[in-house]
Amino acid sequence: MAAKIIDGKAIAEEIRGELARELEELKSQGIEPGIATLLVGDNFGAKMYRGAVEKFCGEMGFNYREETHPEDVSEQDVIAIVNSLNQDAQISGILPLRPFPEHISDSAVINSISVDKDIDCFHPFNMGKLALGEPTFPPATPSACIELMERYMTGEGIDPKDGFEGAEICVVGHSNIVGKPVSFLCLNRNATTTTAHVFTSQKGNLEKHTTTADYLIVAAGVPNLVNADQVKEGAVVIDVGINRVIVCPECQTYNRGKKSPCRQCAADLTDAPSKTVGDVNFDQVKEKAKAITPVPGGVGSVTNMMLAKNTLRAARLLAER
Ligand code: NAP
Repeated sequence: MAAKIIDGKAIAEEIRGELARELEELKSQGIEPGIATLLVGDNFGAKMYRGAVEKFCGEMGFNYREETHPEDVSEQDVIAIVNSLNQDAQISGILPLRPFPEHISDSAVINSISVDKDIDCFHPFNMGKLALGEPTFPPATPSACIELMERYMTGEGIDPKDGFEGAEICVVGHSNIVGKPVSFLCLNRNATTTTAHVFTSQKGNLEKHTTTADYLIVAAGVPNLVNADQVKEGAVVIDVGINRVIVCPECQTYNRGKKSPCRQCAADLTDAPSKTVGDVNFDQVKEKAKAITPVPGGVGSVTNMMLAKNTLRAARLLAER
């Protein structure tokens, strides 16, 4: 039987409605949540994200402050800007948009952000709290994975508490942004959590771990890393990957760019179409899994809502001080 498609867009809309009510309540108490972005230089991805955050703040009814500075600004000046954001009563959350230029240390900037405004859990203090099982700001993408799993369980008549306890969960990827924190969030819910990564694959052990998972979370940034053979029959699959690929018109192989010929059949890719895919071979895996998130329209859709949730929490906590 084909898997249930977990509709991230619909879940995001549900959450948006819940948050809109919370925002209204906060505003009625004179509390105005806001986000600031900090961009240094003109990295394309960081600029795209900045624009997306600004648009999202407009849609959510949040204050927005843009801090965009030239490539040659000094680290000292960047830290002074962070300090001014830390002091700004209009701003409840600060988002550093990386990568920074080489002369600016990531950790120097992150460590200067007030832990009370660290809405995506970058600061070591907040990561430590997450590891201890008491996160103030569970990071957005890992939280989106948990939210999708919890809402899926609820829809199936399973109390999410029972659903996580003792469940076999395999996370593929151990980055500080996604893999590690989502592993902690699962562990904190008493799941039996395995974290696989590139070395697991290199030892030929990936399938051993993924095929025993009741819940499989994949965050590797590798298109088609997980095929039907790597998934247990009846598993729930959460695909975090976002990969822009060029699809070969001859053999349908995914390629990274148009400049070289297809890596499989050497066809010319100049006019080949591009497409956004996850890390899971969706068409194959949906025939074996019980439920699966699509890309796009899965985890990514819910991530912003988790960021909004943390912004409201930050605004509330700051107002209580
Ligand atoms: P990342 O920092 O590049 O980390 C990728 C992780 O996957 C690393 O731990 C890496 O292991 C592991 N990995 C790479 N190749 C592997 C393989 N063949 N087998 C097993 N593990 C492998 O990426 P990230 O920031 O965590 O993001 C992961 C994916 O999620 C990307 O596609 C990204 O675009 C997407 N993403 C989506 C959202 C969203 O909102 N939906 C948000 C953030 C990221 P090593 O470190 O050992 O090399």
